[in-house]
Amino acid sequence: MHPARKAKTRETSRQRPRLGLLAAALTCLALFSAVWLDHLNFRKQKVSYLPWPETARSGETTLLQSQAPFSLSEFLHQQLSQLGLSPEAITEEKTDEGLTYVSVRTTARDYRRFKDDLLSALKKKKIKTGLKEEKTASGEMVATFELRQNSRTRGWLVLRYSLPVQARKPARAEPATATVPGLKPEDRLVAIVIDDMGEDLNFLRELINLKVPLTVAILPDSGLARESAALAEKNGLEVIIHLPLEAFNNHLTSAGAEGLITTSMSPQDVRSILERDLSLLPQARGLNNHMGSKATSSQDLMEIIISFLREKNLYFLDSKTSPRSVAYELALKKKVPAAARQVFLDADEDRSRVKDRLMELFNLARKNGQAIGIGHPFPETLEVLKTYLPRAAEFGVKLAPVSALVKN
Ligand SMILES: [Zn+2]
Repeated sequence: MHPARKAKTRETSRQRPRLGLLAAALTCLALFSAVWLDHLNFRKQKVSYLPWPETARSGETTLLQSQAPFSLSEFLHQQLSQLGLSPEAITEEKTDEGLTYVSVRTTARDYRRFKDDLLSALKKKKIKTGLKEEKTASGEMVATFELRQNSRTRGWLVLRYSLPVQARKPARAEPATATVPGLKPEDRLVAIVIDDMGEDLNFLRELINLKVPLTVAILPDSGLARESAALAEKNGLEVIIHLPLEAFNNHLTSAGAEGLITTSMSPQDVRSILERDLSLLPQARGLNNHMGSKATSSQDLMEIIISFLREKNLYFLDSKTSPRSVAYELALKKKVPAAARQVFLDADEDRSRVKDRLMELFNLARKNGQAIGIGHPFPETLEVLKTYLPRAAEFGVKLAPVSALVKN
């Protein structure tokens, strides 16, 4: 045999097992890819053919580890609420790749207070944290926590807060100092109305004990309406009629159904309800609406009510349960003294924030010379009023009944 040919033969025979190995490897790779793609499809809730266990499904988030049901999103929410952040301040998004992006609005003071706790909680969970603190062009501070537990558990926690500006200091819960320019405290009036009164005399007594000129809005059909009005007036609180008016969602709720005035009533029926309400609460100096998102946007109905108020020398306070309310403007046009609510102190899901709302109310009064807030007979509200109303002067404001703030 020719030596060259012999060599070639040897080479070919040596290549055969190599080809076999390569084929086997490729088959394995193809199989593995098929299985992996099937797994990915399963995780993305698409069609898959293999019986993957439910724990391998990402469900809400593809950030879950398949072995342990750890959710970065849940963990962050839990931590933030433990640090005292209200759920409203937290927003969450998922990026296209399924990474968690939690964004929180807070104050500089709170951020400094809980930053270390947050870092140590993350460390305990073995979450690697890269922290970057930057100031944006608008002067806002942004603290970005880049979080990573493993390749799948990743995300960002972003806390935004404004640096306290010297002139803005009263915006926080700090008492105002004498250096705040503008009006003197005695010229900056705050009126606080407690709505839905007339059922609980003990709550009324607590309000009386605050020894500040609050205004109480009494539901005429409440069980202790007359007693409440008499007790309140005797103790120097201003009384107003809390008039149940039709809301857009009245079919969903029976609240305030007694004595409710609706847009479909005849003018005579409306008048007779108003007459009856005033006879139940003769101490009333004015009237505000209970609910009424639909009624206060009805020109026709409000004309009847406003005319009644004018006749009886009562003022109108628009609770502003709807931005479409025409009532305040109409009252002024008809020469009925009127005012509108600026702040709700304890809107339903908001009760943990009564103090913030009260500070907002004080701020508005410092800025505009006066402001009106409405609260409800909730224990949370009472606690905050007890703490801050006797110290109103420290915040640069003075409490007054609504009648001192109405415009003519
Ligand atoms: Zn009400």
